[in-house]
Amino acid sequence: MTSPELLPIPNIPDPSKKRIVIIGAGFAGLKLAQKLAHTQYQVVLLDKNNYHMFQPLLYQVATAALSPSAVSFPLRRIFHKKDNVIFRMAVVKEIDKRTKTLHTNLGTISYDYLVLSQGANTNYFGNQNIQKFCAPMKSTSEALYIRNKIISNYERAVNLAREEDRKPIMNVVIVGGGATGVELAGSIAELRNKVLPKDYPQLSFKNMRVILIEAGSSLLSGLLPKSREKALEYLKKLGVEVLLNTMVEDYDGFTVKLKGNEPIETLTLLWAAGIKANTLQGIEENQKAPNGRLLVDEFNRLINEKDIFVLGDQCLQTEDKFPQGHPQVAQVAIQQAVNLSKNFKEELKNKSWKPFKYKDLGSMATIGKSMAVVDLPFVSFHGVFAWLVWLFVHLMAILGVKNKLMVFLTWSWKYLSFDPSLRLLIRPRYVKDFKRQWMLEEKDYED
Ligand SMILES: Cc1cc2nc3c(=O)[nH]c(=O)nc-3n(C[C@H](O)[C@H](O)[C@H](O)COP(=O)(O)OP(=O)(O)OC[C@H]3O[C@@H](n4cnc5c(N)ncnc54)[C@H](O)[C@@H]3O)c2cc1C
Repeated sequence: MTSPELLPIPNIPDPSKKRIVIIGAGFAGLKLAQKLAHTQYQVVLLDKNNYHMFQPLLYQVATAALSPSAVSFPLRRIFHKKDNVIFRMAVVKEIDKRTKTLHTNLGTISYDYLVLSQGANTNYFGNQNIQKFCAPMKSTSEALYIRNKIISNYERAVNLAREEDRKPIMNVVIVGGGATGVELAGSIAELRNKVLPKDYPQLSFKNMRVILIEAGSSLLSGLLPKSREKALEYLKKLGVEVLLNTMVEDYDGFTVKLKGNEPIETLTLLWAAGIKANTLQGIEENQKAPNGRLLVDEFNRLINEKDIFVLGDQCLQTEDKFPQGHPQVAQVAIQQAVNLSKNFKEELKNKSWKPFKYKDLGSMATIGKSMAVVDLPFVSFHGVFAWLVWLFVHLMAILGVKNKLMVFLTWSWKYLSFDPSLRLLIRPRYVKDFKRQWMLEEKDYED
């Protein structure tokens, strides 16, 4: 019998005109599919999850401030009454460029145009031990894992008699001084300062260290120097120990080894130190930059291809103002998707395509309540106003009225009471081997 993976995915009708297959429903893929709804194209959107993740707020899921459903949005709902868009939850494994066919865990699908928008994954820089023992935060399920890990640590620590045994369980080490690391560190320090002592009055939280490690000489390298200094000042105010110019060499699940510095004992190493573009079998090595990003032209077309496009974190596109490529941020992914959708629509009218130009709208990061930094193209500011701007921008960017309302209410409650109500330890049930394919994510390290 032929394996289902070698047969076409069932129940996808033949397109009357051209079929565009989009891999990945992140910021880029989702925006493109939305913009192509109600056009003459048949759009097939594939993602390994059945929801869109709002990654900028994952750190709030990890620190029990927001529920996973507040930052994740069901994809099928977005495409109600958009009949030319078909969604399938599928893991895409390989492209056969010769036959213009994709191989997925559900079966095969052919395309007229293919758009890769698979984003990026955590980069461990080749260190297998770190990959095995740290906790990354690139997805909702990884953020939820961190929440469970932190809460379970204190449920364990409260039962340990000796202080020396409690310390490694209570310490949290975060690696990477970009926005994710800074926001995680600030949020965990706030939990330690305001929330956990009320939950665990028998534990002394003076024993809990929150340490942020960065290999470079400053935090938030994409922001202006004044904003970087302010972020450092805010973190110190919250009691975060910041180690700059410090390289993590190894981690065995208990001791973090640092180059030229004392080792740190912790059961919780959160890795926010880097990303690497996702790729797919069938892409040639000469189509990739040395850092793995796929090389595209000014129309986001993969080099040496006619009908394959790449968007967002996965691609490397240069412009005069960005000779090393654009930053791997949400705005680039969204703007590229909008430009490609316009070009696909122009194609239907046999009109010429417009090249992509990135419009930088600015950067921001929040460190804690009333503490944020914002760099806009013509002005930079920090403090309470920056924090309010950060809250507003993120609230507006979240998909769906219900999610906006849920996040607004949760934040109001949290910042008024400092008592986030999500400190629940909901552990996954044991999954039998034969059910794992559908119930568990793929393992990404060797035992
Ligand atoms: C924790 C965190 C915080 C961030 N904070 C900010 C911020 O504050 N501001 C900002 O601008 N940017 C931020 N970013 C970066 C921003 O999220 C990315 O730049 C943006 O998501 C890139 O969009 P994308 O569409 O290229 O990829 P993504 O949004 O990552 O989407 C990729 C999609 O592809 C799917 N996929 C991958 N491989 C496969 C496969 N083989 N088969 C099927 N589906 C697949 C994934 O499930 C995912 O849905 C943050 C990122 C993280 C992780």
